[in-house]
Amino acid sequence: MLAEGGNGKEEMMEKTYLDCYVTSCVYNANNCCGKGDIVVNGKDAKVNRETACDSFKERKSDSFKNSANSLTKDIAIVCEATNCRFNENKNCKAEHISIAGGNASTSTETECASFDAR
Ligand code: SF4
Ligand code: SF4
Repeated sequence: MLAEGGNGKEEMMEKTYLDCYVTSCVYNANNCCGKGDIVVNGKDAKVNRETACDSFKERKSDSFKNSANSLTKDIAIVCEATNCRFNENKNCKAEHISIAGGNASTSTETECASFDAR
């Protein structure tokens, strides 16, 4: 009977300084992520390569580039990789992370290079 208390979705998301090296992602410009917030997968990850940027979207044409308007290095990260020592309640608490994946064409070819097993 208890009404569920606020769903807490907007609870203070800390931001993390992010360098992204996935140049094939539509959100990437100058190693910045223009998406604003990302989701990192890796529920059972024990090593970096078992994580992935779930927000990756392949750039189909070079002409479609991120405009610079939302480029910032500080973004909110929801992370499923709870085996990582920087993960607290699925938020990334690292100050600085890197997403790797070079020329990935799918999200599974990307990874959080900063994953560090507990
Ligand atoms: S791969 Fe992820 S972190 Fe990198 S630009 Fe794309 S959405 Fe952003
Ligand atoms: S550093 Fe850890 S908690 Fe942060 S995004 Fe990467 S895997 Fe997730």
